[in-house]
Amino acid sequence: MSVTAEPSFRDSVDLMFKRATALMDLGPGLEEKIRVCNSTYTVRFGVRLRGKIETFTGYRSVHSEHMEPVKGGIRYSLGVNQDEVEALAALMTYKCALVEAPFGGSKGGLCIDPRKWDEHELEQITRRFAYELIKRDLIHPAQNVPAPDMGTGEREMAWIADQYARMNTTDINAKACVTGKPPHAGGIQGRVEATGRGVQYALREFFRHPEDAAKAGLTGDLSGKRVIVQGLGNVGYHAAKFLSLEDGASITAVIERDGAIVDDAGIDIEDLRAWMNGHAGALADYPRGLHVKDGAAVLESDCDILIPAALEGVIHLGNAARIRAPLIVEAANGPITFGADEILRHKGCIIIPDMYANAGGVTVSYFEWVKNLSHIRFGRMQRRAEESRHIALVTELERLSSDKGLGWTLSPDFKDKYLRGAGELELVRSGLDDTMRAAYQSMRQIWHGRADVHDLRVAAYIVAIDRVAKTYVSKGL
Ligand code: NAD
Repeated sequence: MSVTAEPSFRDSVDLMFKRATALMDLGPGLEEKIRVCNSTYTVRFGVRLRGKIETFTGYRSVHSEHMEPVKGGIRYSLGVNQDEVEALAALMTYKCALVEAPFGGSKGGLCIDPRKWDEHELEQITRRFAYELIKRDLIHPAQNVPAPDMGTGEREMAWIADQYARMNTTDINAKACVTGKPPHAGGIQGRVEATGRGVQYALREFFRHPEDAAKAGLTGDLSGKRVIVQGLGNVGYHAAKFLSLEDGASITAVIERDGAIVDDAGIDIEDLRAWMNGHAGALADYPRGLHVKDGAAVLESDCDILIPAALEGVIHLGNAARIRAPLIVEAANGPITFGADEILRHKGCIIIPDMYANAGGVTVSYFEWVKNLSHIRFGRMQRRAEESRHIALVTELERLSSDKGLGWTLSPDFKDKYLRGAGELELVRSGLDDTMRAAYQSMRQIWHGRADVHDLRVAAYIVAIDRVAKTYVSKGL
């Protein structure tokens, strides 16, 4: 199934899907039922801004309702179009199935350059877009639950939640209508970092298997690995920060809209991000490292791990053959086109696919949704009880040691760590780590266990499609 012309993003996702279903035995018609997008709603609405009415175009696409609510982010970008939201909604279906988050797939987008509008204007636009979606149940705690994506974050999610609450004053579960809210507005600790944290956990799990790392010609763990990151937004920033500060990886290049910063000695991610925050998101004049104007060319530089974390289609038929990274982690959705995927695989490049690599966001969104429906913070009932039990155990050990004259003492550091009951952030990280490990194992079983499966992407699709198919079959379809 090789291609010579670049398919659209949605066609690319469909072609990847078909590579997997060609190896599966789905009943007649089921392949198509799972693959096609159920519906896409397009809305055009006007907002009075700066003395005139501005018209905006937005979308909410529902790919699969085999489980409800359906789930998927809302993107603000000038590149948003129907093909893109449908591709992203399909990826959400497969992603949720892979990490066993009980949702169908959806995605939304607004065709807008968010940097063109100030905060108050963005609030007006967001509330109006939300109003249009809420009145059609395309935002609803039981039916359709958005989250942040490119160009949106906690702030927009808080506006959406408030808009829903204003329109549904007696809905006790109103807060569960959207995830990615700030903690003070019904959000959960650890959601902002979740997708980047998930990328870190995915890589840690990959390197726990020396045979898998060897397929990419890599050895050891993440320490000292040279990493290139494209996009220092929510996902890229957190991934780069955790990999460098906690795992000893060296971020040798960061690629952004206005070029790249390259530094073989390793980039201080916090410092670069602080600089960008103070310079309207630009990195061109950053005083350390080397600025390269043609950022896209830096994707082709020598490194151990390439993390595209900005947008789709950045590795394509035109540059795939020149990519030198032996391991690519798709932190963004769809950064590698179908044709590029084929070229990279033939070169022996290992790709950790988007539906797995960036699933940390939806996983913690799932925790947030459960928290909103249960109306209680995780750990609130257990934390102090857990602490009391640990204190009792440590006190007893110290008493025994003293009675027997053994002179054992537990180090203050151990006591500090062990005695503390887990709070919400620790529980969220633990749940995310567990989810990323389990999902990797399910892909790996297929990757290593089947002679006809040669890459992680097909393995991920097979696991996800099989789970969606089972749900459809058990529903009687
Ligand atoms: P974001 O808006 O926070 O960050 C995107 C970054 O990419 C920005 O810094 C932007 O300047 C940069 N960028 C844009 N165009 C670029 C280009 N041509 N070259 C280099 N850099 C460019 O968005 P995000 O939330 O971090 O999302 C990034 C990707 O991750 C998207 O594909 C999104 O769908 C995916 N994703 C996000 C989440 C989430 O929780 N936010 C979850 C899953 C997947």
